[in-house]
Amino acid sequence: MSGGGGVLGDRILWVACVSCKGKFYCGYDLLHSKYKLICPFCKTEFYAKDGLEADE
Ligand SMILES: [Zn+2]
Repeated sequence: MSGGGGVLGDRILWVACVSCKGKFYCGYDLLHSKYKLICPFCKTEFYAKDGLEADE
């Protein structure tokens, strides 16, 4: 039984790096943050909204 309580990982956001297109996720709240994400693959910094995966 582990329902309720922690919601860690509930609200995540998939982004694709603007440089290498590598995909990773971050906290959903970063979408409206002034902080930049750092790509774990190439270390490029970019805003979450710029790397949002397009709805195709
Ligand atoms: Zn990258």
